[in-house]
Amino acid sequence: MLTLECPYCGVKAEETELTPGYEAHLKRFGPGSSDDDFESYMFARKNPKGVHFERWRHAYGCGKWFLAARCTVTLEVFGTYPAQLGEPPADIIAKITAKRPGWEGYK
Ligand SMILES: [Zn+2]
Repeated sequence: MLTLECPYCGVKAEETELTPGYEAHLKRFGPGSSDDDFESYMFARKNPKGVHFERWRHAYGCGKWFLAARCTVTLEVFGTYPAQLGEPPADIIAKITAKRPGWEGYK
């Protein structure tokens, strides 16, 4: 079972205590954007086999949204961090690149 540590309250929550929010770090496009940009924002999502950045909500805890970096194959969690951060913290990126030398980044 997937277990993620909530960066706000510090609880190690099991997957059943969390609500998935799908892909993290989406670049949003709204009114005035091109049709292609808006379409990709609305419908195109990554589905990597490997490292993925996701949004999660501690639904049965503090209720806050946070982000997690984890491997979709092994369920290894590289870290969690507040949803307000625009990009993953350097320590999480370093942890991923140390364990996955060929990893190409989160963008
Ligand atoms: Zn929490």
